[in-house]
Amino acid sequence: MLHDLQVRGLADARSVSLLEDAVTSRRWWLSQWAQGFEYVAGLVAQDVQDSLYDDACRWPECTSCGRPVEHSLQITPELGADPRWVCAESGVDVAPLGQLP
Ligand SMILES: [Zn+2]
Repeated sequence: MLHDLQVRGLADARSVSLLEDAVTSRRWWLSQWAQGFEYVAGLVAQDVQDSLYDDACRWPECTSCGRPVEHSLQITPELGADPRWVCAESGVDVAPLGQLP
């Protein structure tokens, strides 16, 4: 996930601390529900995305589909194994989580 922040120029102290917070809270969640292991990466990504959005930062912005209005990529599936970044506007499957180009 750090890679996905880095390629968008967001691997600064603020984002890294948001990421650490998300990992910490999801670690607790995982301790309550060990079967959630496959889902946890996608959930952490969504937590970080929400926190950045609260800071008025769109991450990761879609650069793939050419729609004129700024929009973000979304984790798909929201709760599932093998999460990927997908553009909700065009349906373009951009990359697996952790491998943004
Ligand atoms: Zn798009």
